[in-house]
Amino acid sequence: MGEGGEPIRKVVIVGGGTAGWMTAAALARMLGRSGLSITLVESAAIGTVGVGEATLPQIRSFNRLLGIDEREMMARTAATIKLGIEFRDWGRAGDRYVHPFGTYGEAIGPADFIHYWARANGSGEAAPIGEYSLPIVAAWQERFEPPREGDERQPYDYAFQFDAGLYAAWLAELAQAAGVVRREGRIVDVRRDGTSGDIAAVVLESGEEIAGDLFVDCSGFRALLIGETLDAPFEDWSRWLPCNRAFAVPCANGGEHGPYTRATARGAGWQWRIPLQHRVGNGLVYCDAFWDDHAARDVLMANLEGEARGEPRKLRFTTGRRQSLWRGNCVAIGLSGGFLEPLESTSIDLIQSGILNLIDLFPGAGIEDSDRREYDRLMALEFERIRDFLVLHYVANQREEEFWRAMRAMPIPDSLAEKIEDFRARAILPDYAHGLFQPVSWIAVLLGQNILPQGWDPRVEAMDGDELGEGLAQIRSRIAREAAAMPDHRDFLRASGASF
Ligand code: FAD
Repeated sequence: MGEGGEPIRKVVIVGGGTAGWMTAAALARMLGRSGLSITLVESAAIGTVGVGEATLPQIRSFNRLLGIDEREMMARTAATIKLGIEFRDWGRAGDRYVHPFGTYGEAIGPADFIHYWARANGSGEAAPIGEYSLPIVAAWQERFEPPREGDERQPYDYAFQFDAGLYAAWLAELAQAAGVVRREGRIVDVRRDGTSGDIAAVVLESGEEIAGDLFVDCSGFRALLIGETLDAPFEDWSRWLPCNRAFAVPCANGGEHGPYTRATARGAGWQWRIPLQHRVGNGLVYCDAFWDDHAARDVLMANLEGEARGEPRKLRFTTGRRQSLWRGNCVAIGLSGGFLEPLESTSIDLIQSGILNLIDLFPGAGIEDSDRREYDRLMALEFERIRDFLVLHYVANQREEEFWRAMRAMPIPDSLAEKIEDFRARAILPDYAHGLFQPVSWIAVLLGQNILPQGWDPRVEAMDGDELGEGLAQIRSRIAREAAAMPDHRDFLRASGASF
């Protein structure tokens, strides 16, 4: 069983969605040569959740880990480039900002750039913060070129918008080529060890049993092993993130291929728009206490920018996570472990963290309690930091609808309340050593939703006003020049093999 000193020889992955195949491909690549056997069970009759098209830049390092060529990936998954997420109407109707995958400004003194901008903004002498960020200016001009290798300023990174089904299918090919055995069939029972209570085998409809030492639950919202079998409690975060429904529908691409995902606030939720090469993914996330399904569906369909391809699919979810993601000999990765709404495209990234943490802690001789505890500690940190960041989008609003007024008034986690106050008072934000969203991301949302700093680092005052104005103006015009020199995003895609 792998407990108490027995080495893990056989891993069974339950589920062949994005989580299952990402896990299989990574384990085979990283651990396959150590004599580990890996089996993945999936059921075509059950299918996958079938949404999840926007990613974060971290996926690039995952691809590198698997030896995936980026250009080939783009061609095979109909991918476009993503420089950030544009938020429309989130503070007040008419507001528009981008959360960029990159920096604002550059060092013009001993304090961080944001403090200089805050001082100039306080006296009405700064341009909107987005004009000091290369990925934002490039995104709005629909331009892209990869950052130059070795550029020490590292002004931006990028992610992809892709067909996640095609990505998973490709990883399935790679995983099987690396020795992963795929079994098709519906799991109807789970057999447990009489002494330890660990999972011994999953039982297919055909009666066949698939035994293993370590099980990875990638069975999606169903949480077949971690939930149904092992009863790991689910920590419900609906009190902070009450949206619990979504409709999703692709539409034709009307020609706009902006290198960014868009999230537009609506009356009782928000709508996503994710342009791929050959179509646009759309969806509306909403809260059923404020909108019924008809209202939500109508809003989505009325706001498509191309002809709908089929009927919208309805999805239900509860925001939160399993208190423990590693129980006995079972690790939950993907939707089985928890769900945070796709506002910041974090689910695939959480899958990636789950896989990398599992590889780091992969039991040599038997599963130790300390491995389980460390895994849970690392994943809890990730989930909670993302949760706070998502909640910020909802509380920092000035909209008039009942839903948005309720969101503004809700009690928020102390950790978040402190962050907002620190920023408002002194433009300070904590730097997270291992956190997904660094200060730049927080600054984007705070400023974008009208939380302006009233104070700043005192070292900024040492700079003469004219010098400050000059420094900011130079950065802004350099960024405008650099963005204008980039190729059109569509031309970049065509050069990467896209045909549209
Ligand atoms: P699933 O895709 O549901 O796969 C579950 C697998 O388990 C399937 O293969 C199924 O056949 C198998 N299975 C289940 N039960 C059994 C059984 N009894 N026997 C055999 N097999 C079984 N993520 C992002 O990163 N970016 C986004 O933009 C994004 N947008 C989203 C929008 C919405 C509305 C939702 C709900 C999610 C979104 N996500 C997004 C999340 C993303 O879709 C998932 O994280 C991702 O698809 C992984 O899902 P999964 O593999 O965990 O589960």
